[in-house]
Amino acid sequence: MGLATCRRCHTGAETREHLFRDCPVAKEIWEKLNICWPSSVANYGFLEVLITMFESHSISKCRMITCALWAIWANRNRFLHEGESRSGSQVADFVLNYLKELDDLNHFFPIFEEPILLKYEEL
Ligand SMILES: [Zn+2]
Repeated sequence: MGLATCRRCHTGAETREHLFRDCPVAKEIWEKLNICWPSSVANYGFLEVLITMFESHSISKCRMITCALWAIWANRNRFLHEGESRSGSQVADFVLNYLKELDDLNHFFPIFEEPILLKYEEL
């Protein structure tokens, strides 16, 4: 049994790499968020690429990357199960607005005085 073709673009198998990085919808999201996937990790697995991304970006960019990954997955599921289609630009706008809303909430109702920083090795 082979991998299913991406039902959004029909240009590739729906692997993690395609869904989150190579699908035209995902590419549009990353471009609008000004986040580049590392190109020097061709032989790395998907998890290693993500770790490289998280290690090479600021905490706020890591937060944006995490939110974008979540939004891409939610957008994919909404498309498949509810027939709702959002463009990459609309998903990127959602990510930016969602993070701004969280920042505004934290401004008015601060929860943490200092961000809690843990490296994945410490978890
Ligand atoms: Zn696709």
